Amino acid sequence: ISNSLDALNKIRTLSLTNSEVLGSESNFYIKITPNKDQKTVTVLDSGIGMTKDELFMNLGKIAYSGTKVFMETLTQNKEDFIGQFGVGFYSSFLISKQVDVYSRHYTSPQTYLWSSTATSQYTISEVPESDPNHISVRGTKIVLHLKEDNYDYAEDHKLRQVLKEYSSFATYPLELLVTKTKTEPAPVAASENETDGEDETEGHVVDVDPTASVSSATLGSANSQPVTYTEFERINNQPPIHMRESKDITPDEHKQF
Ligand code: ADP
Repeated sequence: ISNSLDALNKIRTLSLTNSEVLGSESNFYIKITPNKDQKTVTVLDSGIGMTKDELFMNLGKIAYSGTKVFMETLTQNKEDFIGQFGVGFYSSFLISKQVDVYSRHYTSPQTYLWSSTATSQYTISEVPESDPNHISVRGTKIVLHLKEDNYDYAEDHKLRQVLKEYSSFATYPLELLVTKTKTEPAPVAASENETDGEDETEGHVVDVDPTASVSSATLGSANSQPVTYTEFERINNQPPIHMRESKDITPDEHKQF
């Protein structure tokens, strides 16, 4: 996320003197998507992106400067290693058995994938336009394939807690995909009532879960049923507290900060 914030700063700075660098994507964001089935966490940003050479230079350099020693230290002595090596990106291997980085530089029509399984090996390949991971305008998408001991990071509540604790003051919107439950009236007849109940956000109905913890009794109607859906939830307030007028800050917000 820190790297994504840097990448957003870089493209925003360029856009101040030349708005054309933004192309058709004028929004600056970081979207975090946990996936419990796949045991992954994805971080997508609309930052400056990386070229193939930059993927090689920026993420590959550890690989040819003693990754083996690095990775051995990583397994033996997790706590010490980040400070020792000073490599933010590689800390993703603390919780991941594989890391995939899809990136498209703002000047490039191509998306490239850098992938490594925490060995000294990594691959870089071009991502075809037909691939769902092809990045449409620019930016970087990092997919963490979690280690078995770290599956809890695929839970939205765990990510929300970590993000709120460490990234609340991020200066670009941080959005987390969360699963929610709402109630919908039971369909009267299969072919009737097809209105999809478009949510007020960009969420969409993904599944009907009859075991969801909201019982129909609490919902007040025997005919209603719990429906789970996902939507992006904003984690950080904009602008962050340190960039607002002090008179607009409540004592509670101040205390929390
Ligand atoms: P540091 O951030 O301290 O330079 P890292 O190992 O965390 O070290 O990252 C190495 C480099 O990879 C970054 O400096 C940046 O150039 C590039 N990088 C990493 N993540 C991203 C990203 N999301 N978007 C663009 N570039 C990135």
